Amino acid sequence: MDLFEKCYGYTEAKDAIRSGVYPYFIPMTKTEGAESVFQGRRLIMCGSNNYLGLTTDPRVQQAAIEAIQQFGTSCTGSRFLNGTLELHEQLEHELAEWLGKEASLVFSTGMQTNLGTISALVTRGDIVVLDKDDHASIVDGARLAWGETRRFRHNDMADLKRVLSSISEDKGKLVVVDGLFSMGGDLAPLPEIVALCKKYGARLMVDDAHSIGVMGGGRGTAAQFGVTDQVDLIMSTFSKSFASLGGFIAGDEPIIHYIKHHARSLIFSASIPAPNAAAALAALRIMRDEPEHSARVNAIGDRVRKELSAMGFNIGHSVSPIVPIMIGDTPRTILAWKTLFDAGVFVNPVLSPAVPAGQEILRTSYMASHTDEQIDRALEIYHKVGKQLELIS
Ligand code: PMP
Repeated sequence: MDLFEKCYGYTEAKDAIRSGVYPYFIPMTKTEGAESVFQGRRLIMCGSNNYLGLTTDPRVQQAAIEAIQQFGTSCTGSRFLNGTLELHEQLEHELAEWLGKEASLVFSTGMQTNLGTISALVTRGDIVVLDKDDHASIVDGARLAWGETRRFRHNDMADLKRVLSSISEDKGKLVVVDGLFSMGGDLAPLPEIVALCKKYGARLMVDDAHSIGVMGGGRGTAAQFGVTDQVDLIMSTFSKSFASLGGFIAGDEPIIHYIKHHARSLIFSASIPAPNAAAALAALRIMRDEPEHSARVNAIGDRVRKELSAMGFNIGHSVSPIVPIMIGDTPRTILAWKTLFDAGVFVNPVLSPAVPAGQEILRTSYMASHTDEQIDRALEIYHKVGKQLELIS
């Protein structure tokens, strides 16, 4: 049996490329954040995670340039041995302070943060409990961990209770949820999750990849719900509102200290380069000192949700600047994505297995730097395409 047989037999993506409806890996020629050029055409970008629009902020860009000049382009080693810069520690210090936690630890990506943190904490005999819609990096962190994984239905507190109450008291338990779900744009009900974790003696970790900078005045979902002290660990990434690349975990000092000495994705991988750390630090200071960016992206999200619902689109349970348009099958989702692309708006088609089969969506998302005029145009195009494809009546 040739191991490569599965590769030679994999035709799905090539078939889609040949028929001109392949929605992935589309190279960008140029981007100004809110508008980007693809294949020689300028599109309104309603499919990025650049929520605060800071990738093009001159202060963030300048910080990255100066960091390259001071520290070079790479750390060429892991945090553990030769790759820790004073800049990493400064960033960790300001992150912890901003989030109201004792300490934080910076990893090279959000994916590595989840892989390293969950696998370091959930050891043999422990149980990690996940929401069924948790991000893939959480699921993979749980797969890497020596402990067992249990799952509960998305945002279903009765089901979380059922799972927690079925675990014996002598087991260590970690519940991990997305604070703001990346596809549905809906929030985890943190106060109820906190109460259940307390009742059943479980620790709680919240992945705030999409919510730091956006929810809770920029401090994320724990702050939004006023439960920062009761969320044990707050995780996030620099690849969204922080306009960079990297990730971090924040919590009590002894826990962060333990993760720092046990997370293999931290210890055995090179650290985040100086320009990325400097860009994230500059973005953090902007989100801390200029709350207007968070207010702006939320105002745009509110407007888009209201207008799409009024047009007759089903936007699920979104309460954020991530606004899904529920379509419900693959061919129509691809057709809607392609028609929007040709009409001038970039959005993301999300298909099974990223969402359950039959729940395919167009994921649209917004940024503080979108102008009102760009949002007007995007909404007009959604309306026109929605009618044309009979997604709305
Ligand atoms: N968690 C969530 C909820 C995410 O959406 C993502 C990235 N899309 C990650 C973690 C991983 O972050 P990164 O891109 O920094 O690896």
